[in-house]
Amino acid sequence: MNTLSNPALFRQSCYINGQWVDGEQSLTVTNPVDQSVLGTVPSLTEAQVNDTIEQAHEAMAGWSALTAKERSKILYRWFTLIEANVDDLGTIMTLEQGKPLQEAKGEIRYAASFIEWFAEEGKRVYGETIPQTVSTNRLSTITQPIGVCSAITPWNFPAAMITRKAGPALAAGCSIIIKPASETPFSALALAELAAQAGIPAGIFNVITGDARTLGVPLTQHPLISKFSFTGSTQVGRTLYEQCASTIKKTSLELGGNAPFIVFDDADIDKAVASAMLSKFRNGGQTCVCANRFYIHDAVYDEFLEKFTAQVAKLCVGNGLDQNTDIGPMITRRAIDSMQLLLDDALAKGARQLVLGNEVEEQGNYINPKILVDVNDSMDIVHEEIFGPIATLIRFQDEEDVLTQANNTIFGLAAYFFSQDISRVYRVAEKLESGMVGINTGMISNEVAPFGGVKQSGLGKEGSHYGIEDYLTVKYLCVDIA
Ligand code: ADP
Repeated sequence: MNTLSNPALFRQSCYINGQWVDGEQSLTVTNPVDQSVLGTVPSLTEAQVNDTIEQAHEAMAGWSALTAKERSKILYRWFTLIEANVDDLGTIMTLEQGKPLQEAKGEIRYAASFIEWFAEEGKRVYGETIPQTVSTNRLSTITQPIGVCSAITPWNFPAAMITRKAGPALAAGCSIIIKPASETPFSALALAELAAQAGIPAGIFNVITGDARTLGVPLTQHPLISKFSFTGSTQVGRTLYEQCASTIKKTSLELGGNAPFIVFDDADIDKAVASAMLSKFRNGGQTCVCANRFYIHDAVYDEFLEKFTAQVAKLCVGNGLDQNTDIGPMITRRAIDSMQLLLDDALAKGARQLVLGNEVEEQGNYINPKILVDVNDSMDIVHEEIFGPIATLIRFQDEEDVLTQANNTIFGLAAYFFSQDISRVYRVAEKLESGMVGINTGMISNEVAPFGGVKQSGLGKEGSHYGIEDYLTVKYLCVDIA
């Protein structure tokens, strides 16, 4: 971290109630490039988390009493500071997460956009008046902050998954406690440093680190937490959802995906290939909205495969700090081992792996991008999230049939398709069982549109004007004036 222009952004303590706090134990954070040690963060006890929650509860009284405009001004300062520190924040992210530096800086700007957006949206939270059913009644609603919020976030977007939750929470007048992934705590702590500099009051934005299971218990079960938000795997989401049941917490879950990417015979193939590259290989394939299954119409299959293979062969695997790197290391060796199991299963069942020509020696956390052809529904790789740079190609003939295959999954986060036929565009978009659909594009995420899944991909929407609703409660007032 000695290359940072602002070394104060590299914090190795938790940020609780406006203080930098240490623990008796610590966790080591490593660089996925070579497992070298970047630093340590505290491993807090459950008692320390309980104290944090109580302090966040006390602090919320003052924060929620401010006007939305006053909170907005402070959030806007935070947004400006994040943007001003994009180089250092990007470097911290690449060092702990592995993604190429340009992508890391892109994520920082994306992360900042949620703070900016919700600084604005916070001022547009309204109640309503309701026509009465009894002439002497006057009915209305007021909207109030839900209470202390907690969030557990993943390593694949170490900054944006925090601001997408903290932005609306703070704008609504809530306080929040964030537990970032143990692989990427430094991006979260750097955001906390900037939150402090922006003047966010003590106890309103807190970052805690430590053993996930230990910290997860109070964050999902403490009676003073009113809302829990999680982004991560469906498996862990299920457990945390269950934990929230004991105190009936309002819960948002952004879980796994299994995005189909369908190329119809009337598609612009060059556009489909360019979009496939972004959708599949961004962040090394480690995003929940990455294309997981490519369904290519028989009539354009050969053309798509030839052009796609040529592009994939150009991808450069390496250290994210090197300028020409397209795919950094995977987050852990374990991630590669899980992918290998999916690959072995597919190859044993008849899939073929194409040799792409620009392959480097696979060592440490590096894996070459791969294209698998002759893939079919019997293979695990079609049903599970790959979370890496492996593209699976499946031929299809018929629109109805491809829709059935695309929807044959427990997941429903993102889906993509390519067609120039306007009737088909609406027909297919309406029938796809997913929360988000990219049509003739592989990039759909931004702060102004609702991000979220259906089926077992999750609950709730983040970003957009919907994103603040989860952090508010609507209170109904009935006044009798007789
Ligand atoms: P990924 O596969 O992206 O690592 P996970 O669902 O395993 O997704 O992790 C997402 C977040 O959930 C991380 O912050 C991780 O530390 C946390 N986490 C994992 N298991 C638990 C658990 N049992 N209790 C609380 N948090 C957990």
